[in-house]
Amino acid sequence: MGGIGKYISRGAGMAVLLLFLFFLSVPAGAVSLKGLALNDVMAAHGFGLPSEYGRSAVYRSRTSTVVFTSGSRQVVVDGLALYLNRAVEKYPGGWMISPVDAVDTLGAVLFPMRALKKVGAATVILDAGHGGGDPGARTGAGVQEKQLTLDVVHRIRARLQQCGVRVWLTREGDSAMTLDERCWRMGKLGGDVFVSIHFNASRNTGTSGVETYVVPAAGYPATAEEERRQPRRGSGCPGNRFDGANMVLASFIHKGLVAHSQAEDRGIRRARFFVIRNAECPAVLVECGFLSNRREADRILKEAYRDQLAEGIARGILTYLSRVRELRLPPAR
Ligand SMILES: [Zn+2]
Repeated sequence: MGGIGKYISRGAGMAVLLLFLFFLSVPAGAVSLKGLALNDVMAAHGFGLPSEYGRSAVYRSRTSTVVFTSGSRQVVVDGLALYLNRAVEKYPGGWMISPVDAVDTLGAVLFPMRALKKVGAATVILDAGHGGGDPGARTGAGVQEKQLTLDVVHRIRARLQQCGVRVWLTREGDSAMTLDERCWRMGKLGGDVFVSIHFNASRNTGTSGVETYVVPAAGYPATAEEERRQPRRGSGCPGNRFDGANMVLASFIHKGLVAHSQAEDRGIRRARFFVIRNAECPAVLVECGFLSNRREADRILKEAYRDQLAEGIARGILTYLSRVRELRLPPAR
């Protein structure tokens, strides 16, 4: 329990420091465009000055290693690859990061407890992508994504229920369901966690691997979109209320998924998919592999492999729920 107290107090100190840094940067105009000094943000997270190798900066704390690349949105936190809302940039005065990434991306991954203060842990909603007349992607042999997503969702549910978690599904069988209906059910069921399961397809049949998606911060572009210097105003969505918790959920699920599937890690990405954009609780969408890649599709067609996918995702959800529940425990004396 002492450990949690430590996280909270460090988190609160961090928030004050960030706010201070943010206000410092505002009057300078150009500085606020660039964001916050990365060295200061990382120092607040307990990291020393970076070792720099060409375009990369490597920050180390006693427990973690974080690698940034100048001009890139990809950052690697203890081996976990994820996409920032905006690329970090190396300026003559030092490296800069957007305030939203300092708090809701890095802060959430490094100090999850702070992002979980206002979320619940009672009910999990699992969404099997596609269904009915919408088959989704398919393997070369014609196996449909809608069948595979439902299969994996059932396997995840079984594992969560064994651990006493209340689970609802947006669809039980092969029923057609619009994205609106999925969100309506999500709201009606009152879930605390929403996880949508999909399989991927690409024109490039060589592409393989797993991805976990969260919504980008309000006004920032999706991973596949072009970088913008300034966030677009007024483009927030309901899912943005949980930016920090979304990232915590994604990090636990993605770690579990990669560890158990041993699939290629394509990282935690950002997109405004309808179901996660409109979620009323922390939400992620998981792409469990490419049906268009023959080798990966062959693995996915094996029941034992789908069990591994489900195991990894379920472990991630369970870790998330246990962290949220730890916050509800009375403080240790
Ligand atoms: Zn899909």
